[in-house]
Amino acid sequence: MMPAGDTIAFIGLGHMGAPMAARLVAKGFALRVCDLRADAAAAFAGARRAVAAASVRDAVAGAQFAIAMLPDDAAVRDVMLGQAIEALSAGGVAIDMGTSSPASTRAIAEAFAQRRLGYVDAPVMGGVTFARDGTLDIMAGGDADCIDRCLPIFEALGRHTWRCGPSGAGHALKAIANFANAATLVALLEAMTIGRKFGLETAFMADALQAMCAGRQHPLEKKIVPQVMSRRFATGMAMGLIAKDVGIAADLAHAIGARASIADATRALWQEAADHYGATRDQSEVARLWEDAAGVDLQ
Ligand code: NAD
Repeated sequence: MMPAGDTIAFIGLGHMGAPMAARLVAKGFALRVCDLRADAAAAFAGARRAVAAASVRDAVAGAQFAIAMLPDDAAVRDVMLGQAIEALSAGGVAIDMGTSSPASTRAIAEAFAQRRLGYVDAPVMGGVTFARDGTLDIMAGGDADCIDRCLPIFEALGRHTWRCGPSGAGHALKAIANFANAATLVALLEAMTIGRKFGLETAFMADALQAMCAGRQHPLEKKIVPQVMSRRFATGMAMGLIAKDVGIAADLAHAIGARASIADATRALWQEAADHYGATRDQSEVARLWEDAAGVDLQ
């Protein structure tokens, strides 16, 4: 539990902020809430043991923690640098739980550090239902001692806190996680649209693709962890064959008039890897296309 008397200012009572703040109240934390929409703060406080503040400054004044769940960098800068930094208690910690850019986060954290105030980035994975249930994944970046002090809050809100590293590392992990999920989503939508246009039933494809592309067939579980990270590169299938298979899907899409923007780009990437590294090299060595360009390896 929080040390007696600690107060949390919670700023931003939107889709995610409201259920997260409600969860903290239910867990016994003392909250002062605030939102640009004053009616949202009043309604929230009216229904629970929480205090509605008229401004960010009023919410944060004397608080030990200030949590922001705001839409974008501009709002976070406005709230954190424009108001919270002046009002937070000595030794207090501000926590940005929204999805912000790592560069902006680092600049704000630096300004807080100059005032000897803590600043932690702690974006969340999981939507409104997970916020309501307290089962979010929390990705924390910043000073390790500050993160330790935030743990009781994170434990009330989430099922796991991933300690990512210095300031901005949480926001970096969140961005790449959303990128990976977003890319997978549109690839699946394109694949299923091609299949549907060809005549396959949607429910049948969902069942079959879950068996063949999710779980133990997922590229992270089947290729990146066991083959790329281990540097084994030995799945037993050649890069040139995958380039051919993706090409079949792209050609099919073009032949039947389905959209193939991801299939075309994927075919070009696999062909580039096959041309550059050799078509007989293992499919998992496609990783080198990105590793070599960035000058890193995924060991
Ligand atoms: P939202 O737009 O529903 O809520 C944002 C709230 O912030 C609004 O109530 C708005 O009035 C308030 N606000 C904006 N500027 C303000 C300011 N200057 N001062 C005080 N209040 C201000 O957004 P959301 O869906 O709750 O998302 C919040 C953050 O969480 C975003 O960074 C989003 O990317 C991230 N996120 C969202 C989800 C989701 O499922 N919605 C999931 C994970 C992460």
